[in-house]
Amino acid sequence: MNPYPWEDFRPHQQTPYIYGYTCDELTQQILTMGYREVHGPTLFGLLHRYGPNLPSWFDGQRLPRGLWHKITSSDKLDPIHRVEAHQSDDGSTKYRFHISGGSVEGIYMPFPGRHTLCISSQIGCAMGCTFCATGTMGLHRHLSAAEMVSQVLNIKQRHPDETGKTKRFNVVFMGMGEPLHNLDQVLKAVSVLTDPAGLNLSPRDVAVSTSGLIPKIEQMATVKKRPQLMVSIAATTDEARSAIMPVNRAYPLEDLMRCLERYPLRKGERVMLSYVLIENVNDTEEDARRLAAMSQRFPSLVNVIPMNEHEGSPGFVEPDESRTNAFANILLAHGVFTTIRRSRGRDVAGACGQLVQKIARKKNARTYV
Ligand code: SF4
Repeated sequence: MNPYPWEDFRPHQQTPYIYGYTCDELTQQILTMGYREVHGPTLFGLLHRYGPNLPSWFDGQRLPRGLWHKITSSDKLDPIHRVEAHQSDDGSTKYRFHISGGSVEGIYMPFPGRHTLCISSQIGCAMGCTFCATGTMGLHRHLSAAEMVSQVLNIKQRHPDETGKTKRFNVVFMGMGEPLHNLDQVLKAVSVLTDPAGLNLSPRDVAVSTSGLIPKIEQMATVKKRPQLMVSIAATTDEARSAIMPVNRAYPLEDLMRCLERYPLRKGERVMLSYVLIENVNDTEEDARRLAAMSQRFPSLVNVIPMNEHEGSPGFVEPDESRTNAFANILLAHGVFTTIRRSRGRDVAGACGQLVQKIARKKNARTYV
């Protein structure tokens, strides 16, 4: 068995979809079609403002005759073939996006004053974290930048009152996949999402979550428009972490902590550490104290995430509320910025990979559906 499965390269879909272009690239494309440069930013802005499912009344009247029709009727506009929505009682909505070769998940989560759009970066994942439904799938392929941007636009378009008018939303790469395993395409998607002619998000409005691929974290540190960094810790000793996160065998905790100490943070920025809390696995007082000591080595914020149980998890159980609170209180007592984040959309298989897995099991499929 390959001990480093994440080095097994699986290319993303090579077809150049229009939603994978930055404004400059789209402008170059329309120049080759014989249109003027000035129409590039207008076209880019309209495509990103109105999303892939354009209203029927909209005819691109600020553009030359024919250009709008050519672009919007192209089968190279949107790589997402079909979208399924599953509404949760807690206000969040889980989406299943059908793309070439399988499907991925995204989730819309409303919070007071802002909204979070969580998207996927791969079909499946090579990391094999044992507490995660996606980790049981293995990697099928990387997503292209266009497939990631289109997830954002598809979700945003379905919640126009909240996200369309106020623009107060942020994007997190915490759905299916290890974003840093597909870093080039993730960074491309970030440049499209932060393009001033389109959604114009700040890089701080975008966060990527990694299991701890140190060389990729170091590569991201050199990027000017880098998103916020979230790192999944999930255990406080190498022995315990290697047992539930195989990536730790290649990149142990101490090396990861040293890498995070060196990571260049912008003013007021913190590394977000996520800690999936599992009963009798990583929820002792010693774990809390070790986690506090780790997190104080650099500016950080700890998100404690009680285990979201699923059929594929090997007996991992969510701790009861008092145990979760006791764990968080130890962190707080050590002066650590701490939040408890319960998975949203639990009634609709809210944690990453659960919806696709649930539907695959129903269809008795062995792989993605
Ligand atoms: S937690 Fe993230 S990195 Fe680990 S298997 Fe799941 S999707 Fe992959």
